[in-house]
Amino acid sequence: MTEIASPQMPVVFVSHGSPMLPFEDIPARKFLLGLGAKLPQPTAVLCISAHWESPVARATGAAAPKTIHDFAGFPKALYELQFDAPGSPELAARAVALLKDAGIAAEIDAQRGRDHGCWNPLMLVFPQSGIPVVQLSLIDGGDAAAHLKLGAALAPLRQEGVLIFCSGGAVHNLRWLNRDGRGGTVDWAAEFDRWVDQKIAAGDAAALAQYRDQAPNATLAHPSEEHFLPLLVAMGAASNGGTGAKGKRLHDSFNLGSLSMAAYEWR
Ligand code: ZN
Repeated sequence: MTEIASPQMPVVFVSHGSPMLPFEDIPARKFLLGLGAKLPQPTAVLCISAHWESPVARATGAAAPKTIHDFAGFPKALYELQFDAPGSPELAARAVALLKDAGIAAEIDAQRGRDHGCWNPLMLVFPQSGIPVVQLSLIDGGDAAAHLKLGAALAPLRQEGVLIFCSGGAVHNLRWLNRDGRGGTVDWAAEFDRWVDQKIAAGDAAALAQYRDQAPNATLAHPSEEHFLPLLVAMGAASNGGTGAKGKRLHDSFNLGSLSMAAYEWR
């Protein structure tokens, strides 16, 4: 049963893994299929995905944004999937206004659709729900601290029934994938993943912002930062400019040896 909307919406971070997620028989897919029922019903979703970086923050302003199949070499069935959640020009405008109020450059993008980092997990979490989904970009070249600030600027949306849904990867190094699925979880990946979990549980936003210096195996876990930055946006939105809100791990599994599928929530 879906809960009645609470005064303040949670903030969620999920790891989206491989684009094959909608078809994979893995624990993370089962978790995502059950997640919607555990959350208060949102009026709309603002999704921050690892797969859109822009020099200034941009929000999808179309009423019916297209489905972007931003991957290559996958089975035809994956290209046939369409994400039919409506857009929300109103939410896009509201998000851009909040960012500008916080001194962050932002604009509407009326053309851009939603990428697989957004629709892969959300079509599992809210299937056929009709809940509007706006995607917001990361800031190209922005560091962890900049994305904490981006998240903090979005925090008022939580009082407006909007679910801030951040989609990246808790550990994401495609060169280290063990594609035959054997050999279990790689130690360095598990160690980084545990560090992240501990810092989120402690609400240690400062440590997360400095993860590249403080976390074990940070550059192995994230050779580039884009899959980790959505987690900073989530932490920022949950903390709302404070020192750090304590989050809770909702899911904990690895795919292909080193791809963490961890998910977190802040209430
Ligand atoms: Zn990805």
